[in-house]
Amino acid sequence: MITVKNLQKAFGKLEILKGIDLTIQKGEVIVVIGPSGSGKSTFLRCLNLLEQPTGGEITFEGQSITDRKHDINVTREKMGMVFQQFNLFPHKTVLQNITLAPVKVKKQSPAEADKIAMDLLRTVGLEDKKDAYPSQLSGGQKQRVAIARALAMQPHVMLFDEPTSALDPEMVGEVLEVMKKLAEQGMTMVIVTHEMGFAREVGDRILFMDGGFIVEQGTPAEVFGSPKHARTQDFLSKVL
Ligand code: ADP
Ligand code: MG
Repeated sequence: MITVKNLQKAFGKLEILKGIDLTIQKGEVIVVIGPSGSGKSTFLRCLNLLEQPTGGEITFEGQSITDRKHDINVTREKMGMVFQQFNLFPHKTVLQNITLAPVKVKKQSPAEADKIAMDLLRTVGLEDKKDAYPSQLSGGQKQRVAIARALAMQPHVMLFDEPTSALDPEMVGEVLEVMKKLAEQGMTMVIVTHEMGFAREVGDRILFMDGGFIVEQGTPAEVFGSPKHARTQDFLSKVL
């Protein structure tokens, strides 16, 4: 579904991604782990072109999306993204947050968008909050709305950048549960997280990033059970 070849990103003279190679299959759940500052967020943001890569190539569903002629908006619609800070529209209700883009961008009728949104709210367990405003929700509820909002665009892949890092500990589980359900339904997902239990349980493949490279990758059993590289061993010894 996605092929990344020698992906590079620099901010001015500062090289952040130094050559990332990766192939993501449809339905695969990739979990990206690694120390702060290693380039995990930059990598995700390059995948959906929130950041313009400075080198290399990304193909998505057979098309080069790093080609200058490519329409970025077409790709973004197919890649849902969920951030650490939920980024909900504060002056819109839960239902309006979810239906806004499908009506504006996908040209769905309001009735159709409402119906899809209610189905999604049921999936994330928040049917009864459809008329609430973000300020009336807990962090975990806000993040579940953000996930429903991303799903409303019917993306082909979902990117998560530390979706539970801003949550109080007691709310982490409800968000991970929704993500696990998505994974079980076959959604292709790339997830940056520090939740190692979740990574081990739900990830098909774990990538360990450090210093702008993928240092090591493998199944959860391989990476967590017998990490090969000293840097991976060192990182895991601090977080496990
Ligand atoms: P991670 O998500 O692994 O913590 P990031 O991808 O956020 O790492 O950041 C990697 C490095 O890139 C950091 O040193 C950060 O300061 C730098 N960086 C990220 N975004 C920018 C930017 N817009 N301009 C300059 N430097 C940036
Ligand atoms: Mg980050």
